[in-house]
Amino acid sequence: MNSAALFVALALAAPAETPFVELSTLYGNRLLFDAQGIPLIPVRVMDQQTRVQLSSPAPITVRTGAGQTFTHPAHAPLVVERAAGKAAARQQVFILETLEGDTRKDRAKRRDFFKAQGIAAEILNVGGVYGVGGKVFDNRAALIVAKTRPTPAQEKALSLRPVPIERLEQPPAVTMLVRHAAGAESVRDVVQLEAAAGAAITVRRVEHSIGYPQHGFEDRTFRGALSLAADRTGQLAVVNLVPEDVLVAGVLPSELFATAPMAALKAQAITARGEVFAKVGKRHLADPYLVCSAQHCQVYKGQSAEHPRSNEAAQQTRGQLLFKDGQLVDSVYSACCGGHTEPSHIVWDQPPKSALTGRADAPFADPAQRIDHQSPGNIGLFMDQAAHGPLPVQPVPIDLRTDPAVEQLLALPREATYCGASTFNQKGDAYRWTRRLTRQDLARAFARHGLGPLLSLSIPERGPGGRLRMLVATDVTGKSVTIRRELPVRRLFSPALRSGLFVIDTEKANDGSILAVTLRGAGFGHGSGMCQQGAIGMAEAGHDEREILRHYYAGAEVQQVFGP
Ligand SMILES: [Zn+2]
Ligand SMILES: [Zn+2]
Repeated sequence: MNSAALFVALALAAPAETPFVELSTLYGNRLLFDAQGIPLIPVRVMDQQTRVQLSSPAPITVRTGAGQTFTHPAHAPLVVERAAGKAAARQQVFILETLEGDTRKDRAKRRDFFKAQGIAAEILNVGGVYGVGGKVFDNRAALIVAKTRPTPAQEKALSLRPVPIERLEQPPAVTMLVRHAAGAESVRDVVQLEAAAGAAITVRRVEHSIGYPQHGFEDRTFRGALSLAADRTGQLAVVNLVPEDVLVAGVLPSELFATAPMAALKAQAITARGEVFAKVGKRHLADPYLVCSAQHCQVYKGQSAEHPRSNEAAQQTRGQLLFKDGQLVDSVYSACCGGHTEPSHIVWDQPPKSALTGRADAPFADPAQRIDHQSPGNIGLFMDQAAHGPLPVQPVPIDLRTDPAVEQLLALPREATYCGASTFNQKGDAYRWTRRLTRQDLARAFARHGLGPLLSLSIPERGPGGRLRMLVATDVTGKSVTIRRELPVRRLFSPALRSGLFVIDTEKANDGSILAVTLRGAGFGHGSGMCQQGAIGMAEAGHDEREILRHYYAGAEVQQVFGP
């Protein structure tokens, strides 16, 4: 470790002693706070374990719910085994829709909408209101859920992808044997471990990437306290009770190049923190943690993944979150918007969110010059009047609902947009891409929709950021299918398309059927919220993290919610 890394590691050291957290609190779906008012986030390390082995370079204090405390010596392995257990009683429901922030007020309307479609929908209120140091932090949301899964016909008609979750009815129980230096203790439900002087604890053979090709086991090291608790199956969960800046420091290197400019790293730290807090209390309702450590919530590998520069970004933005109209902003982001971001409701087919409108990813003279997605047809060019950083000022289309407007975007010089200008984006196919699909490729993609050789393939409707709202394919017999939303369209093909922002060039045979198509596209990822390459481009043009966030989240401002 070099001296800069050592300095940051010391600065980020865990606060004095983590309060003991009972099993009922771990299952309470609420934020926890340490003595300084800094949020402690319970994060899954792993669960469904029967034997866990840990160690630390410093002595470990072991605490039980019965009030026992003992000290385990440095370096010696500490083993916890499950002796007996009882699974939690839980009920499965299917999430039809999640209403967050300013969309939450529509919950009764949305429930009634689903009821009118014959689905017995209910409202499940999640999240909470937290008062911290005189400030109020509100991350309440409403889940529209159904106890029985909608029929395939209902799912198709409403473009639904119901997500099954479990609600807790009765907490689980476990009895474990803690084998430490002085012998073994039988402990019920939860044991909490913390190394002396903020030292980290290594957990052996952490199972990771379950369900992915890279599934495996590796030793991982965690700062803060660890809780070993009954999981929903009555086996052992390992949970890291981690201060929020330490969690963000562990998450950042998986999200953005640690060598990116500091302003971009700080913007990413604030959005990553926002994404964690947006999820708190709304997921894992039958688990003894608020967020997991996999793609489902955010990839978190503990101290093992940290980098001094991303640690610095996490620490310097500690307690900072993005708000609009008193609501936490859903700070979604993607790799590269290709020159224009997309309103969230186009990408996910959900009610509009006022902070997530689309805009050209280019210098604007007047921040009021944003796309008004309520009034179609405001197609035009916007010319920045200001001398704004080193980017050359170029006319950038501000509404890309038509094919000619998307053509204009594709023809822009790279340096016209922030993500095109990013020095981290000069290689690869994140900014501009082409993909040729042969008759065979198309046949494979549309066979499961029952189509033969295609006569036409078109995008009849786009969002203001140019991403398709639907793709229509018609075969030579006149049969036609419509695929809605960008992600299902991208996944029609293997490998999946880089983005849903593209134009289609068609090559036809003499009989009028399609021989091949060439897609000419822009961007990588969904394109809503912050453009990560654009954030780097903005930082390189001299903008700070607050300007970057204001650019991508319309009207949103950074506020210091926790800590100094
Ligand atoms: Zn998760
Ligand atoms: Zn961009």
